[in-house]
Amino acid sequence: MMFNDFPVQYIEPVYRPPSEAKSFILPVTNGCSWNHCSFCSMYTDVQKKFSVRKESDVLTDIQRAGEQLVGVSRVFLADGDAMTLSFRRLLTVLKALNHAFLELRRIGAYCLPRNVARKSVEELTELKNNGLSILYVGVESGDNEVLTRIKKGETAETTYSALQKIKQAGIKTSVMVLNGLGGQVLSEQHAVNSAKLINRAQPDYLSILVLTFHRGRQRFVEAFGGDFAELDSKELLKEMHLFISELNLNSTVFRSDHISNHLVLKGILGRDKPALLQAIRQALSPECELPTIALRNI
Ligand code: SF4
Repeated sequence: MMFNDFPVQYIEPVYRPPSEAKSFILPVTNGCSWNHCSFCSMYTDVQKKFSVRKESDVLTDIQRAGEQLVGVSRVFLADGDAMTLSFRRLLTVLKALNHAFLELRRIGAYCLPRNVARKSVEELTELKNNGLSILYVGVESGDNEVLTRIKKGETAETTYSALQKIKQAGIKTSVMVLNGLGGQVLSEQHAVNSAKLINRAQPDYLSILVLTFHRGRQRFVEAFGGDFAELDSKELLKEMHLFISELNLNSTVFRSDHISNHLVLKGILGRDKPALLQAIRQALSPECELPTIALRNI
């Protein structure tokens, strides 16, 4: 990609998944329409208050980007839940992107399960046929008590239904689960029920991130109900071990290589399940020095 006078004016901060590092980031909304998850501070700044960008502004950005940027093969639709747009508006954006970038191979976006509830499989399939190839869904947990306490606004069932619909449309699913999200009180049920949900959904990609408080923990602890006790490094790994041991996946790319992770793991599940579990047991052995820090405040 070549950058001249960049065709998009971003409202910072802008987030995207690590795998979209080389993508052209196109904001179609600002912020997140839900914005209640107690662990998430991505869009809490005043300038990130949720709004849908004017269609004409988005189309102008696409046209200018098509004229100025060379070699764009990937596009990520920002911000937190681009899929909140109506089917018609999404289709208009996708068609414009395909027209502007002849080398375009893949379009991705974050997606809340509720975004999908309002779209049919036929509509999602039409979006797929116009280039929408991967959706990133923050599952966070498959345990309904955890989901309630973090104010996710979703249940294991609503998340499963969304992932099923996305798959039926032929769009790839990349899901995130948050290690440590249930604290000590709900750790076991968080791990077991998250694995149950992931087993049902059989996503294409699965990432584990660690619960991290970027702007302090007070908001999260208050929402959780007061009995939140965070996991230390070894407890986080024990929870991850339980989670992976409960997984029964056919062919899912697995990663725990985010900056928040205390142990970097990569593999294909189920093929690499024994090796991943062995690596965690090794990290938990008395000879292995893990950092004694609990949750990071970064
Ligand atoms: S849905 Fe995603 S972006 Fe929105 S508040 Fe929750 S975690 Fe943050």
